Amino acid sequence: MAYEGGCLCGQVRWRATGEPANVRICHCRLCQKATAGPFFARAVFLAGDFERTGETTAWPTSPRIDRLSCARCGAPMFALPKDPPARIGVSLATLDAPDALRPDCHIWTSAKRAWITIDDGLPQHAEGL
Ligand SMILES: [Zn+2]
Ligand SMILES: [Zn+2]
Repeated sequence: MAYEGGCLCGQVRWRATGEPANVRICHCRLCQKATAGPFFARAVFLAGDFERTGETTAWPTSPRIDRLSCARCGAPMFALPKDPPARIGVSLATLDAPDALRPDCHIWTSAKRAWITIDDGLPQHAEGL
């Protein structure tokens, strides 16, 4: 199984072979700020299963993780652990087939926006896993 996606303008493309390690919706403040959205729905793939092309800009949201956005259209695309970069998180919204992957849980619901009601039946974790 392969998954593919890209940014709004098409300059950044990615392709993953193999299934993701996990698919989560993160409600933490860093994800809210980094995506400029209320939460970050992302899949995490093993770096060895993942290819990406196109120019990105990077911003560190913690000492451990860089957030990468398309250098042209600015779409937030990837969360990249720095050391070692064994895994990569990618926004579910960038999938070419947007419903090809489904989240398996919510994390950092302690930072969830008050106007979001979660009723999808998925497990909810107050902090990270
Ligand atoms: Zn772009
Ligand atoms: Zn987060």
